[in-house]
Order: sequence, then structure tokens, then C-alpha cells
Amino acid sequence: MPTVFLPAAPPTVEVDGTLSRFPVHRIYCVGRNYAEHAREMGSDPSREPPFFFSKPADAIVPNNTEVPYPPRTQNFHYEVELVVAIGRGGCNIATARALEYVFGYAVGNDLTRRDLQKLAKEAGKPWDVSKGFDRSAPIAAIRPANSGGHIAGAAIWLKVNGELRQQANVADMIWSVPEIVAELSTLFELQPGDLIFTGTPAGVGALKVGDRIEAGIEGLESLTTTIC
Ligand code: MN
Repeated sequence: MPTVFLPAAPPTVEVDGTLSRFPVHRIYCVGRNYAEHAREMGSDPSREPPFFFSKPADAIVPNNTEVPYPPRTQNFHYEVELVVAIGRGGCNIATARALEYVFGYAVGNDLTRRDLQKLAKEAGKPWDVSKGFDRSAPIAAIRPANSGGHIAGAAIWLKVNGELRQQANVADMIWSVPEIVAELSTLFELQPGDLIFTGTPAGVGALKVGDRIEAGIEGLESLTTTIC
């Protein structure tokens, strides 16, 4: 059957060391997965567990790209995160088998309109406009687990104009990668092509036009984004 117009090609992410690309199905995100970041956001990590929200798949931005300062915000923030790429679908996945569903890992930046998020929190409204806006998900190349292994402990950092703003270790995450995959798979049927942004450490802050952001995780391709 013909369609009334040609659908957009699915967003894809580069796969490190290959010419193939990873087609993106959905983007899930974990909120407040590092205790220090939960505290800087004004919540108590000992009382509230992490949780999920999402971004549209076409929010993806490739590495080394300019991102225009988004509309309707005066407080536009960076958040470096380990991104898990799902290679095999399933639901009710056991924590002990969760890594079998992981295709690989990448560095991502969960760009956030913090002022709109604050208003949403205060009013008990959804986070879509503060988190799921256009070009809100820069991501570097995915390193396949079958060549580079899984990531349990690795330094994670972010610099703005060469100045260190975030520095932690992914081992500090409240929910580990297997726990995130297992928990998420009880809420949604995971599909190959799903990406999971696993939460940001402390040190989030505002960006302005002209800023150059470099984000990294030990062993993965670094992510560079410039705000224009
Ligand atoms: Mn985040």
C-alpha cells in the first residue's frame, strides 16, 4: 500500500569500528540514578528510587554536531550519561540475564530545559517539553559489547569550554545496568534498537550559545557538541 508521503528514515547511531549503523527504536531515560545528583535536584535518594521517562527517537544528535540553543528556556542544561543500546527484545527479563540483551554502550548527553522541568515538577505535570524536545539527545558512537565488553565501573566526566563540570564513576549508579534493563522490561516490551540513558552524576549546569561540551566515559568514544 502506498503511503500519503514518504516516512522519514529511522534515526541511526554510528557503531564504533564498523560501517553498520544502529537503528533507533525508542529512547528511555532513568531519572535520579546517582545519589549526589538526586540531592542537588532537591530530592532524597534514600526515600525515592530512580524512575523512567522518555524522549522521541528523532531527538538523536550525532557526534561533533552543533545544537541550536532551544526555544522557550532560559536555563538549558547538560547531563552526561552512559547510554545502553539494546540488541535483543524481551519483557520481564531477569537481572542475571539482562546483559544478554545489551548490544553496546555509548556516551550521551540528556539535554534538559531545566526551567520547564522545574515548572512541571511543581505542577505535577509531564516532563515531555523539558526533556523530549528536538535535538535533546546527542550521542557518540556505540561500542559493541561483543568487542569491548560490558561496562560496570568506568570514569564518567563532562567539560564545558575545557572546564571540568561533572566527574564520577558509573559504578556509583543506584540502579546498575542489569537492574535498569530488568526493571524497564517489566514496564515495556524492550525492542532491538532501544536506547537507555542511565542517569547523570552531580554537577549539572547551564549552557549558553558558543559553549563547547566534551563528555566522556573511560573506554568509549567521547562526545563533542557545540551550542549555536
Ligand atoms: Mn538525565
